[in-house]
Amino acid sequence: MRTPIVAGNWKMNKTIAEARELVAEFIPLVKNIPDVKIVLCPPSTALLPVSALLEGTDIGLGAQNMHWEVSGAYTGELAPAMVSEFADFVILGHSERRAYFGETDESVNKKIKSAQAEGLIPIVCVGESLEENKADETEKIITGQIKAGLKNVGANLVIAYEPIWAIGTGLAATAEVANNTIKIIRAVLTELFGADDAQKIRILYGGSVKGSNATEYFSQSDIDGALVGGASLKATAFAEIVVAAQKETVK
Ligand code: PEP
Repeated sequence: MRTPIVAGNWKMNKTIAEARELVAEFIPLVKNIPDVKIVLCPPSTALLPVSALLEGTDIGLGAQNMHWEVSGAYTGELAPAMVSEFADFVILGHSERRAYFGETDESVNKKIKSAQAEGLIPIVCVGESLEENKADETEKIITGQIKAGLKNVGANLVIAYEPIWAIGTGLAATAEVANNTIKIIRAVLTELFGADDAQKIRILYGGSVKGSNATEYFSQSDIDGALVGGASLKATAFAEIVVAAQKETVK
């Protein structure tokens, strides 16, 4: 039995004051959620204040990116050890980083290795574009991203299947389609890590998840939670998703 994860990717949103307000409102809403791992991924400026507010809770903290080098002349970047001062998780290879910041399967691979060496759990994002989806290339693209991105890394990671066309668009993939793709992902993970480890890896769905559709995803056989963007920016909306995950877990 894999404990589901519901992770909120705040992207480039929330000042420190806004982050504090959100977290203060959110914590009481998820007091009785023993069976879901919640992870908040604020922008780096808010990692320290949010980590202070999460003390004494089971809510995890994640960064949205990091560099693979341990230190050096990389203006604007955060090293793995800097991230691990606050966070336990780090999102790597998000489609926005791949599209706007030149992230590739090779850089994602280096980052996963560095994150794991630092004790961080990477949440590795994979997903196909609309064109690739229409051309029936989803399986090929995802398999390629996983095999290249996860080359020679450890199995202590989380995968987020995020079809690019479903991110921030309101066009969520149907739960059935997402579940089938996630089954394909687990088959690739089995090839890479063996069945025992592959069965332990959580595979999340991401792409326009909200309170009103969360249960459909969480009730699927192979979806182990969600990576949530827009709906994680409001305490009540994000808590609704977490509660849906809890209800499906204990069913
Ligand atoms: C994301 O950015 O990872 C994401 C899934 O965004 P949204 O929930 O807004 O589609």
